[in-house]
Amino acid sequence: MLMNEHKLLEWPEWISHKTSLQSFNTFGFDYQAEFLAVVESIEQLIASVKWAKCHDLPVTVIGGGSNLLIKGDVAGLVIVNQLSGIAVHYSYDDCSEVTFSAGENWHNCVAWSVDQGLGGIENLALIPGTAGAAPVQNIGAYGVEVKDTLQRVTALDLETLELVEIEANQCGFAYRESKFKHEWKSKYIITSMTVRLSATPTLVLEYGGLLQAMPSSPTIRDVFETVCHVRREKLPDPAEVANSGSFFKNPVVSDVVYQSIRTQYPEVVAFVQGKQWKLAAGWLNDRAGWKGYQENGVGVYPKQALVLVNYTCQKADALLALEAKIKASVYKTFGVELEREPVLLGGPV
Ligand SMILES: Cc1cc2nc3c(=O)[nH]c(=O)nc-3n(C[C@H](O)[C@H](O)[C@H](O)COP(=O)(O)OP(=O)(O)OC[C@H]3O[C@@H](n4cnc5c(N)ncnc54)[C@H](O)[C@@H]3O)c2cc1C
Repeated sequence: MLMNEHKLLEWPEWISHKTSLQSFNTFGFDYQAEFLAVVESIEQLIASVKWAKCHDLPVTVIGGGSNLLIKGDVAGLVIVNQLSGIAVHYSYDDCSEVTFSAGENWHNCVAWSVDQGLGGIENLALIPGTAGAAPVQNIGAYGVEVKDTLQRVTALDLETLELVEIEANQCGFAYRESKFKHEWKSKYIITSMTVRLSATPTLVLEYGGLLQAMPSSPTIRDVFETVCHVRREKLPDPAEVANSGSFFKNPVVSDVVYQSIRTQYPEVVAFVQGKQWKLAAGWLNDRAGWKGYQENGVGVYPKQALVLVNYTCQKADALLALEAKIKASVYKTFGVELEREPVLLGGPV
């Protein structure tokens, strides 16, 4: 359907036409949604999807926009998920199942859990975005991934418009991956996610220098506060410097590739993964000379070479050009292909 045909359409009052997405993505790129719905209830969500289906418009759901690279106007209806609410289902022994509505701020969910004395997700503190997006790329930090505590998600089936429960073991979780990111992208909108938390969790302290920064006999709160402290030291706050966190995934390579890199660069940072190695993409970028680099209003964060930042740009072209240069140089230096982490949205179809 062409844009001017929408003059003939009517839409619910919470849907707006040709709306800037600048405040809905942490890179701050200024492209338009053809239609935008900010939904705060399941009824609004279902009505929005019904309306889009009636008019043959594609539907895209976003949360906090902290893992997006918007590179052009987005056709169809963009739904901003702001479903709110936290519910504790039941407690037994020292475990509780907690359901977070998809639009809840993820960090607030972690802080809330710590306040209840419940652990399991404290290492995932300060990851921006919504609870509903957490399973999409199986968020992870400091040795913990959301799949470790996730029990199930509830999602709206975009075909039947019914709510369905999907068990965690069906979601195809892997490193920064799930079926929601690919084959289920146009099939489901997550409306809530349920985690199983414990008052006596096994604390994960082996990653990112947590152990050294911890008091003896650390508590769940100690871990939470240390993670917040370490992250604030290293990562840019999107409210101050526009970014979407790690721009590249850590590449997983064979032992042969790893050994050949290590021969030349004995200090290479890598973690063993069964028979393979996960290379620290931040180290690769840093060693290839990109840390702190700036051009055309974009750059590489001076404290963490894995993070690309937007200093002044309204559009994504300069960032895409910088991404291409970094990828080419890392490939030339190490023979390793970097893969982008944020989800690409918009642009010509
Ligand atoms: C400073 C910074 C630090 C970060 N650190 C980390 C980190 O340590 N670990 C990590 O894993 N990530 C990290 N991220 C990335 C990001 O925070 C996470 O991926 C987060 O889960 C994205 O949530 P969001 O609500 O902003 O999702 P969005 O960016 O809005 O959307 C991301 C994807 O999820 C889909 N989606 C969103 N909501 C739903 C829904 N309800 N149902 C179905 N699909 C949906 C979207 O369509 C899109 O494909 C960081 C980002 C920043 C800016």
